[in-house]
Amino acid sequence: MYLIKIDRHRCIYCGACVGVCPKLALILKETFIEYDEKKCINCGMCAKACPMKAIEFRK
Ligand code: SF4
Ligand code: SF4
Repeated sequence: MYLIKIDRHRCIYCGACVGVCPKLALILKETFIEYDEKKCINCGMCAKACPMKAIEFRK
């Protein structure tokens, strides 16, 4: 069960999602976005901020 899902093929590693996450649940790595599900509060900010619509968000 995930709260968000990042599509690696769409992601351009711009870091926008990382910057808006209020819980620091996302970390920009060289070839992927690290996501800590335990920190995530399911706010959906990252999905809204993504210019590539690479983040799938489930309420
Ligand atoms: S849904 Fe909210 S808390 Fe979870 S990773 Fe995205 S911005 Fe962070
Ligand atoms: S905002 Fe979207 S494109 Fe940018 S790093 Fe996050 S998932 Fe990737």
